[in-house]
Amino acid sequence: MAKTIMITGGTGYIGAWLTKMLLEKGYTVRLTVRDKNRTEKYAPLQEIATSTGSSLDLYEADLLKDGSFDEAARGADAIMHIASPFILKVKDPQKDLIQPAVNGTRNVLGAASRSGSVKKVVLTSSIAAIMGDNVEMVEKGLSEIDETQFNTSSRPDNQPYQYSKVTAEKEAWKLHDAQTDWKLVVINPSFVMGPTLENIPSDSESLKFMKGMISGKFATGAPDLKFGFVDVRDVARAHVLALENDDASGRFLLAERATGVFDLAQLLTDEFGDKFKLPKSIAPKFLLYLTGWMFGVTFSFVKRNVGYDLKLNTSRSREILRLKYTDLKITVRDMVNQMS
Ligand code: NDP
Repeated sequence: MAKTIMITGGTGYIGAWLTKMLLEKGYTVRLTVRDKNRTEKYAPLQEIATSTGSSLDLYEADLLKDGSFDEAARGADAIMHIASPFILKVKDPQKDLIQPAVNGTRNVLGAASRSGSVKKVVLTSSIAAIMGDNVEMVEKGLSEIDETQFNTSSRPDNQPYQYSKVTAEKEAWKLHDAQTDWKLVVINPSFVMGPTLENIPSDSESLKFMKGMISGKFATGAPDLKFGFVDVRDVARAHVLALENDDASGRFLLAERATGVFDLAQLLTDEFGDKFKLPKSIAPKFLLYLTGWMFGVTFSFVKRNVGYDLKLNTSRSREILRLKYTDLKITVRDMVNQMS
């Protein structure tokens, strides 16, 4: 009989690709959604279920409602816990980011423990749970960043999204260590790029970043800011590999490469020429101290991130998960083709 997988956040940017892959592999998928009336968030997934002949069952559940995942978890073999808000500008960090991430993790992992059936949980954490600011490589005397580190610099009032992710992941490990029923595998993607599945709407910062880039946000100069980048389809594949591989344990940092915003723009210029107002140079740091607010970044963010190198060691994902990364050039090409 096909294994039954419960997925939270399966209506999101990353989650929709994962739900599609699970359905195509013949799993029975239990999709938790906040609001069943928002059919546009999951109708394309129902079509995939119909065409693949796999089952997709809908359950209403909210990260903030205790016990709301219990019904979906009961009888499931595994849980993919992806849901968590990925929004950088929020009014109330506790309410909008930290509570859904941390209480939501308690709620979903509690449902795993109460289910009597779940044997594995795959949790979508983030590079943000590994590091807070790019300066940390220098501050911690590291030559590269890998899964052995935890973000120690983010706070509720400074980088609250990053704080929500590291606090939620630590909570997950605590809950994992207190029981023996289910195994935990954590995926820590860097900045995810690539197309959305069937244009399913999402508030993900990934989409806002690329929309900003092609609409000329950095036309006067790109910040000298490095990120790890990874294709959304590779992130979904990594979750499937983590689910299916019995040797997978611990954390997996995902990135095809770490590169600067300007170099990313260059990939787009190579592909699309002058079609978009892309940056033609790197903006000096002092200018960003003055103009950062226009991009929604604080003085402290500029100070601790702009101009620092970033090196990521992703060998665990390549060697244990055997994840083959999509070239970033293809990732951004597919993403921008969909947006323009
Ligand atoms: P999306 O905004 O597209 O997806 C977020 C998902 O979480 C949606 O399905 C959303 O449901 C669900 N969700 C949010 N709040 C609640 C809630 N209160 N109750 C139930 N469900 C909720 O973002 P992404 O796909 O980009 O992000 C998914 C995960 O990946 C997050 O955990 C994020 O931290 C992590 N991540 C993302 C990266 C990226 O670059 N995109 C990088 C690293 C990690 P609904 O459809 O109802 O809104």
